Amino acid sequence: MSRRAFQLTTALTLLTALTVSSAQARTESVRARTEPAQARTKPARDISRDTLAADDGWAATRGGTSGGARADDSHVFTVTDRAGLVRALDGGSATPKIIKIAGAVDANTDDEGRSLDCADYATDGYRADRYLAAYDPRTWGGAKPSGPQEEARKASAARQAERVELPVGPNTTIVGLGKSAVLKGGSLHVENADNVIIRNLELRDAYDCFPAWQPNTGGLGDWKTAYDNIWLRGATHVWIDHVTASDKGHPDAKEPTRFGRNYLRHDGLLDITNASDLVTVSWSRFADHDKAMLIGNGDTATGDRGKLRVTLHHNEFESVVQRAPRVRFGQVHLYNNRYVVPGDVHDYRYSIGVSTESAVYAENNAFTTPGHVEAADLVKSWNGSALHAKGSLFNGYPVDLLAINNAYNSGSERDLTGDVGWVPASHGRVDGAARADHDVQRGAGAGRIR
Ligand code: CA
Repeated sequence: MSRRAFQLTTALTLLTALTVSSAQARTESVRARTEPAQARTKPARDISRDTLAADDGWAATRGGTSGGARADDSHVFTVTDRAGLVRALDGGSATPKIIKIAGAVDANTDDEGRSLDCADYATDGYRADRYLAAYDPRTWGGAKPSGPQEEARKASAARQAERVELPVGPNTTIVGLGKSAVLKGGSLHVENADNVIIRNLELRDAYDCFPAWQPNTGGLGDWKTAYDNIWLRGATHVWIDHVTASDKGHPDAKEPTRFGRNYLRHDGLLDITNASDLVTVSWSRFADHDKAMLIGNGDTATGDRGKLRVTLHHNEFESVVQRAPRVRFGQVHLYNNRYVVPGDVHDYRYSIGVSTESAVYAENNAFTTPGHVEAADLVKSWNGSALHAKGSLFNGYPVDLLAINNAYNSGSERDLTGDVGWVPASHGRVDGAARADHDVQRGAGAGRIR
């Protein structure tokens, strides 16, 4: 072949290659425009037999957390309604089991799947207007409610509890399938159970139809509500990951005022009490709620001493009024979390609550707040004595939470020391707060496991 012919052939080959590849690119881009997004992404990885990584926080220690990973094939369930979920939970049995939730499961339904509303639960003559008339502090006074309306409220509440409280037994994994699994109105009770995993699930609006009036709480009295989206009570080795918990649909901020107090409908998003221990909560979203997370529910609950060891990392607390978390007794490792207080949240109280014998080790958390929230507002102490806090970012700037708390919260009974008596040993990589803020915004919550 002559040199010129060779050059011509090479040029033609190149031209052909370019033409083919640009045609392929056009086909790809046409496909991208015409196919739904779902079809282009590869099918979601099966996460149902995942176990907690060996170094991932307190739940990874002392034997680790595997949930229902050892379930035999006859104990792997896909559920689409409350009845199916209740059957799979098997009354909280210890048999290793995997429960996959597909779509939206509403806890407020009867055995035939029909929706139940508050009127369906009301019994013995309970009516909210009669209850409010009976126990109005201006006529009833400051005594604890008693009598027919209070009895009727209790009986009605028991009927709702029987539907919405769902017992989760030992050796159980509950996962949402895909990006749209929701448990609505339910309260998962992990009680005296070891080895539980809950992942990739939205838990929405654990709404209490029958709030109780408590006249003496805080001087003015307050409304007491029953249901936490998840309640760990005497639970050990629990991993909660990529969960979204909120009051979506029924925010307490939109509830009216009754007896001069917000008529609350929700309790905690995730409460960890009664000597629960060895818990890791990761990559989850806690949003649009008042009291998000209580770790230890009483100053006199000394059975919690040495327990309530919890790791919280890469979680988002958005539009939360208080308890993110509030801690008694526990050694809590709080790292790489993202806190966002939107400008329209005017009742914000605090994020990190330091209470009796708590030992919170906080590092590299990021806080974003509107102008009326100051750095000194982020931490609140009642009867606490120590908080280890480093690497915090406040609206993008470094802040020493301990120093600023001690300098400005002169109302606290005493200054906090930085020595909490322990240093976390089991944890994944701890990133800077700015990096974590960015990653958590993009990666935390249900439907976002990669
Ligand atoms: Ca609670």
